[in-house]
Amino acid sequence: MRKFSGESAEGWALRDYGSTNYSRFQVLTEGQPAWAQGDRGAVFYFDGLRFWRPTRGGKSRIVASWQSPSYGWVHESLCSCRQCCRERMQHQVA
Ligand SMILES: [Zn+2]
Repeated sequence: MRKFSGESAEGWALRDYGSTNYSRFQVLTEGQPAWAQGDRGAVFYFDGLRFWRPTRGGKSRIVASWQSPSYGWVHESLCSCRQCCRERMQHQVA
């Protein structure tokens, strides 16, 4: 599992993400790393167990799940969870 290293919003934008937005409940269910952009551009990260958000100074801290965005979560583009695989299959068929 990749470690979160207090990435900036710029680092977040440079990654390769899937096009599907998931709800917080869905990312909790899959337990895959996920990212979401919250209010004022804050980037939240889910490591499969806990939610994190960066703080000033390049560090990050754990936040309660209800403090993270309830929608707008994305997985990496090559994520292999059931939901991402289903999405990719649908795109291939269409
Ligand atoms: Zn996924």
